[in-house]
Amino acid sequence: MKPEDDMSDETAMESLHHEGRTFDPSPEFAAQANASADLYAAAQADRLGFWAKQARELISWETDFTDTLDWSDPPFAKWFVGGRLNVAYNCLDRHVEAGNGDRVAIHFEGEPGDTRSLTYAELTAEVSRAANALASLGVGQGDRVAIYLPMIPEAAISMLACARLGAAHSVVFGGFSSDALHSRIIDAEARVVITADGGYRRGKPSSLKPAVDDALAKGDTPVEKVLVVKRTGEDVDMVDGRDLWWDDVVAEQPAEHRWESFDAENPLFILYTSGTTGKPKGILHTSGGYLVQNAFAMQTVFDLKPESDVFWCTADVGWVTGHSYIVYGPMAMGATQIMYEGTPDTPHRGRWWEIIAKHGVTTFYSSPTALRTAMKWGDDIPAEHDLSSLRLLGSVGEPINPEAWMWYRRVIGADRCPVVDTWWQTETGAHMIAPLPGAMATKPGSSQRALPGIVVDVVDDSGKPVDRNTAGYLVITEPWPAMLRGIYGDPQRFKDTYWSRFENMYFAGDGARYDEDGDIWFLGRVDDVMNVSGHRLSTTEIESALVSHEAVAEAAVVGAEDETSGQAVVAFVILRGGIEETEGTVEELRAHVGREIGPIAKPKRIHIVADLPKTRSGKIMRRLLKDVAEHRKVGDATTLADASVMDVISASVAAEK
Ligand code: ATP
Ligand code: MG
Repeated sequence: MKPEDDMSDETAMESLHHEGRTFDPSPEFAAQANASADLYAAAQADRLGFWAKQARELISWETDFTDTLDWSDPPFAKWFVGGRLNVAYNCLDRHVEAGNGDRVAIHFEGEPGDTRSLTYAELTAEVSRAANALASLGVGQGDRVAIYLPMIPEAAISMLACARLGAAHSVVFGGFSSDALHSRIIDAEARVVITADGGYRRGKPSSLKPAVDDALAKGDTPVEKVLVVKRTGEDVDMVDGRDLWWDDVVAEQPAEHRWESFDAENPLFILYTSGTTGKPKGILHTSGGYLVQNAFAMQTVFDLKPESDVFWCTADVGWVTGHSYIVYGPMAMGATQIMYEGTPDTPHRGRWWEIIAKHGVTTFYSSPTALRTAMKWGDDIPAEHDLSSLRLLGSVGEPINPEAWMWYRRVIGADRCPVVDTWWQTETGAHMIAPLPGAMATKPGSSQRALPGIVVDVVDDSGKPVDRNTAGYLVITEPWPAMLRGIYGDPQRFKDTYWSRFENMYFAGDGARYDEDGDIWFLGRVDDVMNVSGHRLSTTEIESALVSHEAVAEAAVVGAEDETSGQAVVAFVILRGGIEETEGTVEELRAHVGREIGPIAKPKRIHIVADLPKTRSGKIMRRLLKDVAEHRKVGDATTLADASVMDVISASVAAEK
């Protein structure tokens, strides 16, 4: 970061943050890495040929495809035209056939301490039984099944059972209310719901089945059957003729299920975006391209060695990260992985690190929000656990602040593990922008480069590529295998949301810039960009500057209407554990931002708060903070993890006035 005297006001705008630190991979890591820099050249020389090769090498097709891409009706893509496959066969049976049936697929850690390990042979049998059970309820190709489960193996089993039958699943995050479940059931026209009595969360059982009952009582749903997994053993009401216990229906089924192949474009799932910027969108993904690109990401971005790695993605299966990097990506590659049911601080704040030590986790994939929380709790907690098995760390969900990246590398990765910051979206289906570990140096806070075979750019308002160190819009300029095939049931909204802002380019909705090395930095949501006295300021950069102060654990920045400057920078800040606010804290933080970025970026107001509003997938909902900063009624907060947070913030801001 540059000191203030290096900055003129003009440059303070577009090139606020300068990152001089880079980290070469160790020679040992580089020597064993799956990815090499040649991949970029190969993909550039023949992009479709490159993806065709990945598709044939990484995935088993029952019928080979005839064309790699049909883009004759943009933005509706067809990948691997004419190819036929079964996604569940690719994730299960083929590993057993290859002699790896005894390899553990899932090490499950229940929150209360119960454990269960399933080998690929066992998981194949479980999924086959579940597929037979769903088929006995009439589920087949073309149907939709809603899945509303805690983080237990049955979640993955249910998803794979649907895939095996060619039915699409719609997973609804277990923390959502009956209203959210109801609207998603209607939207997807689901015939069957798979749920559980409940799951464990923060040390106690948390029920799920009553929310299903409430959702279905609202009426007008096409749901015929509800399958209920027994997890907590708490009492539930079972409706005669509609509700069935999983154990009764699934256990009696044969452990063999003869799979059929489906078209590469057969729908695999519908999944809603996190709802950070507005009403969630029901994103449709199909089979072949989605699986190919995720298998490729496992092999290259996560450098997966299926025989020796233990992979752990801490996301919930209810989010796209859980779909792609708990279920389909790792399992397509035959990985061994961890599935953890609960929260990171139950029963103690070292739970994650304890699980890493217990299972010898090699590859750990988590979110900036979780890392900033761990930073807030203190370095001594991870230090109590043996993390020496780790060899690679990943981040996803929000821009990772350089200081959080450094902490991750140093405290969790012992300065040894490469950190890969992976940018992607529910819509993109798989990683899009990320470094290839072993093939290049990594840089704190930057996602760096589009992956081989992916073509992106940063453009200005008129769609022209921007210069280096100039803020612009991230766009994807060529179709990619795992791209969304639409918003379920709403082709017009699909076109309007992503394809109308710029011609022939996918508009991601994120602000970005290239740095002097051509590496990509994310600057926050386009919806959140601030305009202060004619300067367009990035929320992310000011937040990163605040987080780089030793007193700050987390920060959220918004632009609030202001009479003099158009918009004023307003920051909401959580202090690190053990640090008390004093008279001078706010002034000190303002000065710190001025030094790190420039005077223009100094927040006009800083509110010290105890908590920030986050979606259930852990993203800061800045639009709600903007409502508070502009003294408006707080907007739609249905995807908020903890509804009381906004009341507390509104009250504390009102008290300051
Ligand atoms: P909605 O679209 O409903 O507002 P959402 O965009 O939060 O919700 P997701 O698909 O879960 O829904 O999140 C994708 C977004 O998350 C990206 O557009 C980007 O803003 C952010 N994101 C994800 N990974 C990264 C990353 N590594 N760096 C920066 N931003 C990231
Ligand atoms: Mg989005």
